[in-house]
Amino acid sequence: MNTFDPGCIFCRIAAGEIPAKVVARTDHAIAFHDLTPKAPVHVLVIPTTHVGSTAELSGGEGEMLFGRIMALAVETAAQLGLAEDGYRLVINTGPHGGQSVGHLHVHLLGGRQMHWPPG
Ligand code: AMP
Repeated sequence: MNTFDPGCIFCRIAAGEIPAKVVARTDHAIAFHDLTPKAPVHVLVIPTTHVGSTAELSGGEGEMLFGRIMALAVETAAQLGLAEDGYRLVINTGPHGGQSVGHLHVHLLGGRQMHWPPG
């Protein structure tokens, strides 16, 4: 944890090296619009330091980081007016989870009716 990976696209977005439509930012996390949105609102919330996935979260530091990114996801949902109608938070982990970018991220999806179960 707590590293910058120059080969990681989300590390480079967090560092401002690659442009992104940033919605919110804290000292530890950043929220930006997904490049290929799957809902009217599709924002990604990531830690600014490199963590590969939830599988790498452990101990107190992991809990703290996870709490921080989830808190920013909830705050961003409220900021974007999603709180009343609701929204979905999704974290894909590893190949079976469908994770395609190896930097922990929370998908914030909203603005339409979600369905269950997911694919
Ligand atoms: P996942 O499949 O859960 O790993 O989600 C990765 C997400 O990152 C996908 O929804 C992509 O559309 C999104 N994505 C990939 N590259 C970028 C980028 N440069 N800026 C914003 N979103 C991106």
